[in-house]
Amino acid sequence: MKEWLKELQNLVRNIESIEKFFPLTDEEKESFKKVTSIYPFLSTPYYLSLAVKSCAIKRMIFPNIMEISEAIQSKGEEDPLSEERDKKTLHLTHRYPDRVLVVTTNFCPTLCRFCMRKRNWKKKTFFISDTEIENALNYIRKNENIRDVLISGGDPLFLPIERLKKLLFGLKAIDHVEVVRVGTRAPVTLPHRLLDDDLLEVLEKAEKVWVNTHFNHPDEITELSKEAVKNLLKAGIPVNNQTVLLKGINDSADILEKLFRNLQKIKVRPYYLFHCDPVKGVMHFSTSITKGIKILEKLFKRISPFAIPYYAVDGPGGKGKVQILPDRYKKEGNFYIFRSFNGETFKMSDM
Ligand code: SF4
Repeated sequence: MKEWLKELQNLVRNIESIEKFFPLTDEEKESFKKVTSIYPFLSTPYYLSLAVKSCAIKRMIFPNIMEISEAIQSKGEEDPLSEERDKKTLHLTHRYPDRVLVVTTNFCPTLCRFCMRKRNWKKKTFFISDTEIENALNYIRKNENIRDVLISGGDPLFLPIERLKKLLFGLKAIDHVEVVRVGTRAPVTLPHRLLDDDLLEVLEKAEKVWVNTHFNHPDEITELSKEAVKNLLKAGIPVNNQTVLLKGINDSADILEKLFRNLQKIKVRPYYLFHCDPVKGVMHFSTSITKGIKILEKLFKRISPFAIPYYAVDGPGGKGKVQILPDRYKKEGNFYIFRSFNGETFKMSDM
């Protein structure tokens, strides 16, 4: 049996199985039971074995009683980005003129406690059907402004391979679609999936595919995840990374510097640093925007902009993403006054 299938066959779901990896206190067991009655727990054995050595990884997957506390629940919304409101077919959301989102499944082999689609965990497991793939493709065919299709989930790399192929090859055949971005955390939580030649062949032959992955912490970059990324690159697939700024996990310039530099070493471009969305059951991970900007300021002093992703907020109610930059310039008359990476100021004429 292929390694990735073995991982799926041995997914960890309950306290007894977790305790084969690390012991739990009575308090942790109590929290686990209460929280998972609303938000389930799921992890690959691989990712759980990383949690044994990394507190940050453990915090990203282990249920925390705060998720269901009134204080945290009341601050967030089920769908703060209004993805459901802007749906044009059962699985396709269209908001920006040139881009659409297709949420293909709610299945992920590891559930991240900070997930922005945590609302979908409460639904029965679904995978986009052949009919719904056709409905999404038809919508895209009719809308010639759409040039960029984001395939997301859950994790689309765990769709039945024939369905993934149908979707990706369908998009390949639509001339006005130029880019297909597949969002997946497989290189992080189940990198064995990217050791599978059948999947790599589909991604390569689909031609338009870019992979957006989601490393949040340097401890997630392992020999196996490096191999997974290498296989994508060998198949001609550019790999970008999205990180979410998470309190107590990566909200420090030191950790993010290490993460972004290590991603660059494996030829993954740090692309977005997302401010944590105001999602119900997630707000205990949220830092202030001011803290995010201060971290960014420090990063600009230390590393090349090539290694620094866009720091962005996603506007509530579907307002879209806005990039946040440290305050680096102002206009005075016909001049701009700039502040350089080391705090020096200089002036340039507008024309
Ligand atoms: S992999 Fe992505 S979609 Fe799945 S639980 Fe984690 S954050 Fe959510």
